[in-house]
Amino acid sequence: MPKKPQPPIDRKPGHAAELGGSQEAPAPTGGILACFAHPDDETFGSGGTLARCAGEGMRVDLACATRGEVGEISNPALATKETLAQVREQELRCACRELGVHGLHLLGYRDSGMAGTPENGHPQALCNASASEVVGQLVALIRTLRPVVVLTFDPHGGYGHPDHVAIHHFATEAFRAAADPNRFPDHAGIHQATRLYYSAIPRERIRQMMEYAAAAGTPFDLGSIPLEEMGIPEGAITTEVTLSSYAEIKRRAMQCHRTQMGPVSPFDSLPPEALQEFLGREFFIRAYPPLEPGPTREEWLFP
Ligand SMILES: [Zn+2]
Repeated sequence: MPKKPQPPIDRKPGHAAELGGSQEAPAPTGGILACFAHPDDETFGSGGTLARCAGEGMRVDLACATRGEVGEISNPALATKETLAQVREQELRCACRELGVHGLHLLGYRDSGMAGTPENGHPQALCNASASEVVGQLVALIRTLRPVVVLTFDPHGGYGHPDHVAIHHFATEAFRAAADPNRFPDHAGIHQATRLYYSAIPRERIRQMMEYAAAAGTPFDLGSIPLEEMGIPEGAITTEVTLSSYAEIKRRAMQCHRTQMGPVSPFDSLPPEALQEFLGREFFIRAYPPLEPGPTREEWLFP
């Protein structure tokens, strides 16, 4: 049985070097640090894996670059444009509690919005942030937390969102820089994390899920993004994690992100076999040390 999730540690936005204490959280070493852009990124692609890590006694930390300030609002009763960041931060904290995340580290940038929107020009937008500042924050976290695994988006960021692509580059750079004594000498304790993974959703599974949801009368809306631009080809996957009982935890964490779900989630009423089919596995690309995709996939992120 998974362990009861612990409440995430509170941290102030923009300060990533210090970690608050929690009596029951495992020591800040040897776990996983997930680096994502917005509240909900942690749950949809890899929430089950984070929950499984926590359930198996590993320390789980999440660095979230923005509070999703310009995301959609599924129901106007939940938030306004003005309150969305605050509401989404609470949704993220709810998801972290469900998943068992021990440390939540808000990096303090602003959601850049989709490419080509006016939000791209905001001075605090992640896409306008100084690379060395963001990488420096992540290096400080890696050197403090000393994770075995660092996790972020695939190079395409799932569907090309500029913030997803940006955090992919920043986290990949921080993974390397944290081990280099010549980089960021102000942050003590160089650390070479053992593995770097990219979360990845096979495009074919998105198609199957859409077909299933449409047949069940709760169709998915991909917005303006064509299916061909979602996810990655099945053949690029190196690692497939089975979640079993953690699929249910992932479903609960998804429900926390109410502003991002339609009024009726296709996952709310999934029969157990469909829950396992669509939420019971998560997929990754192992970037370091590199692993060639092949017919037999690696089954877990930790050595
Ligand atoms: Zn996102």
